[in-house]
Amino acid sequence: MSDRTPFRVGIGFDSHRFAPDRPLILGGVRLRERDGLLGHSDADVLTHAIMDALLGAAGLEDIGRLFPDTDPDLAGVDSLGLLDVVVRLLRHHGWEPVNVDAAIICDEPRIAPFKAQIRARLAKTMGIGADDVNVKGKTTEGLGLAVRGEGISVHAVALVEKVAS
Ligand SMILES: [Zn+2]
Repeated sequence: MSDRTPFRVGIGFDSHRFAPDRPLILGGVRLRERDGLLGHSDADVLTHAIMDALLGAAGLEDIGRLFPDTDPDLAGVDSLGLLDVVVRLLRHHGWEPVNVDAAIICDEPRIAPFKAQIRARLAKTMGIGADDVNVKGKTTEGLGLAVRGEGISVHAVALVEKVAS
């Protein structure tokens, strides 16, 4: 690591296809019991993008390598549990999360009513304040996979700080 700055930024992206018979879980919060997302785990696309942003900032392997979707132990797993593992891994390497921001690209459901709950759950898992976690829903204005009703994608950025070497 460079000794010029103790901070690093990382970016994460994820997308999952809609699946009618699964619950929709974003940031560990159940938004509805049906019309969720397809995936090996609980398909929490928001938490997945945030994990990759954190890991990217710390220069560590991405979630595809850490949590392969061929691992039977990870079937249906709660992604907040995986986020907890990621934050522990960061700390092991001397990094602490500072803040996270994410854009959830979906035309429905609306994210705003769930925003406070999502921020609180993610913040608690990462050991940072709810003010340090931001999420917002973005519609695609008639473009892209969201408007075709195919799924949800998320872009996330994370800042981490070196607290030990
Ligand atoms: Zn994912």
